[in-house]
Amino acid sequence: MGCWNEKIQMMPRKELDDLQFKLLKALVHRLYDFSPFYRAKMEDAKVTPDSIKKLDDVRKLPFMSKKDLRDSYPDKIFMASKEELVRYHASSGTTGKATIVGYTRNDVDMWAESLARSISSAGVERGHVVQVANTYGLFTGGLGFHYAAERIGAAVVPSGTGGTERQLDLIRDLGVNAMAATPSYMMHMGEVADKLGISIKNDTQLRIGLLGAEPWSDKMRDRIQDWLGVKGINCYGASELSGPLFSECSEQTGIHFWKDIALLEILDPKTQEPVGPGERGEMVITMLQKEAYPMIRYRIGDLSVVEDDKCACGRYHPRLQRITGRVDDMIIVRGINVFPSQVEFSLLTNPEVGNQYQIIVERKGALDTMLVKVELKPEAFSDNILQLNAMRERIEGKLRSLLNVSATVELVEPGTLPRFEGKAKRVVDRREY
Ligand code: ADP
Ligand code: ZN
Repeated sequence: MGCWNEKIQMMPRKELDDLQFKLLKALVHRLYDFSPFYRAKMEDAKVTPDSIKKLDDVRKLPFMSKKDLRDSYPDKIFMASKEELVRYHASSGTTGKATIVGYTRNDVDMWAESLARSISSAGVERGHVVQVANTYGLFTGGLGFHYAAERIGAAVVPSGTGGTERQLDLIRDLGVNAMAATPSYMMHMGEVADKLGISIKNDTQLRIGLLGAEPWSDKMRDRIQDWLGVKGINCYGASELSGPLFSECSEQTGIHFWKDIALLEILDPKTQEPVGPGERGEMVITMLQKEAYPMIRYRIGDLSVVEDDKCACGRYHPRLQRITGRVDDMIIVRGINVFPSQVEFSLLTNPEVGNQYQIIVERKGALDTMLVKVELKPEAFSDNILQLNAMRERIEGKLRSLLNVSATVELVEPGTLPRFEGKAKRVVDRREY
């Protein structure tokens, strides 16, 4: 099996730790010397580059939060000039505004390098055909897998999302070996194939699913593997970090975080102290090589566990287990991040909308659906169906353009949605993983 950049993938633990420390030190120097934003943050935390004497000293550094990113819209914390930038992507922010991420040529290169290693460790190799059924465009999923697969010499089918029957034709006609998608889209594709009388297991060569961008379980993996004959490889990333960056190796025992790309901490969300080995906590990520949009101790909001022993594959890069929740209230609908605060932001731009709303997420077949129940103001409510329908369509349109995922809106009478004495429970998630 091919192993992209075997030297670093198989590096002994001590060498990896030394390399990680060297990169951390260089990063802190660069931020302190050249970024007014990070320098101010470090001065507040009373640290200088000299404070970093060993890897654990990363804990002296200040955190970055989603708020820091939001406040820096669009490019206040970029550390690259217009001449050095070669790409922009965007991710959903917690309010109406997206977070913009800039890339230098080296950033795009590092991103492709990281994911190329990952998918090669999962079994993708030169000569394979890789269908990328993730969203292309401002989202990072499509182009991330695209570049990674090309880098190792695989041929890419950039199918993007949707058009499932056509995707199935391509899988059969081109002898596709691996597909990048969300796990729920993989399931949906299986259902469509069944309806058309196509067996993915017997009639195609698709054997590797590079699946991620949303939470999924071992149970779902077992189903995908048994039913479709596709190995379910868990993949992880986020646009703030560059895009999809890491995946499991073919042993499927956790997502290898390349130690020269990222330094991963798992902390107790309340105390911000490291959790014990094997304990669940909040992921905090320092990106060691990013140029335009650096990231130190970024509180990404995902909860998980890390295993740091040697993997059965021989690699020492730590393995992130399944993500089991979020610190905040972000939900992921068809691979797209949705914050209830974004929904609220959009709803309240409509003068007729009252104070209460509820988001109901379900899974119909394999695909997520989102229903938003919206209370109207008493003066806006009427029994004029035509008028209400027009209003509903306008509210739906605004939501779709902000969230990038469609939602069905149901307008309800004032006073009919549940009220809460404590924290409002705005989201009802009925999906099973
Ligand atoms: P992406 O294009 O990967 O969806 P985003 O920046 O839109 O990137 O979303 C990143 C978030 O998606 C992560 O913080 C995490 O909550 C979620 N996510 C990504 N991959 C996984 C995964 N394998 N399992 C669970 N959640 C994931
Ligand atoms: Zn491994």
